[in-house]
Amino acid sequence: MNFENKIILVTGGSRGIGRAIAESFNQHGATVIVTYKNSINEAEFDTANIRHHKCDVSQIGEVTKLIDGIIGEFGKIDVVVNNAGITRDGLLMRMSEEDWDAVIDTNLKGVFNVTKAVSRQMMSKRYGRIINITSVVGLIGNAGQSNYVASKAGVIGFTKSVAKELASRNITVNAVAPGFIETEMTGSLSDEIKQNYLNSIPLKRFAKPEEVANLVMFLASDSAGYITGQVISVDGGLAM
Ligand code: NDP
Repeated sequence: MNFENKIILVTGGSRGIGRAIAESFNQHGATVIVTYKNSINEAEFDTANIRHHKCDVSQIGEVTKLIDGIIGEFGKIDVVVNNAGITRDGLLMRMSEEDWDAVIDTNLKGVFNVTKAVSRQMMSKRYGRIINITSVVGLIGNAGQSNYVASKAGVIGFTKSVAKELASRNITVNAVAPGFIETEMTGSLSDEIKQNYLNSIPLKRFAKPEEVANLVMFLASDSAGYITGQVISVDGGLAM
């Protein structure tokens, strides 16, 4: 896969899955712009072809400014990976409105904000690849994550709708649904919860962030030009 001369935006790329995606694209020749919200120290490590920008995806003003800046400098954005996401887990009866809003605003409204801001430019270029990171729990549900699951199921519906809207302009829009990936997000889960997941994963192991990045790269490549509106899982068989 060759991404030379491609400009790629990865939201939430300071660590975890987003970081693996950014590094994979960079290794294949792309210029990658990565966003983050808080982790300033990790984001200080700009390289020649990976740039970090502080941008809260839930804030439309910050998103518009970032994307206008990228287009002003590079003239285009070829690929967007909507990866930024958070969890605020809790059973429904104990879930605060604040925890509901925070997750929906980042995971779902953030995808709307970024996709809307890039799509006009992609439409005029008649080229674009939008890849949204959802989750297997968006397909099968999960007790204790009603806010997160609602956001990820929302991303799936958004992906399919926007795929239909943008297809005539040669823009593909797909969703990737990871299962259990070893990152900080899952690192804080208890051993009991991890063991329960492991028991229900047919491949009997968790995945590395790079295994999600491999699929994202394929969907962004020329080989995937006829794939749009799809939800593809990387979950060791968890949700089959
Ligand atoms: P991490 O918690 O490791 O990293 C999350 C990233 O998102 C960080 O870069 C973080 O920035 C960024 N971020 C959080 N909030 C915002 C915001 N408002 N604006 C911009 N950036 C933000 O998560 P993972 O790598 O584990 O997850 C990445 C994606 O994959 C998420 O969408 C998650 O829901 C999804 N996913 C993960 C799974 C897993 O098992 N890990 C399974 C299924 C889906 P900062 O460092 O500044 O906080």
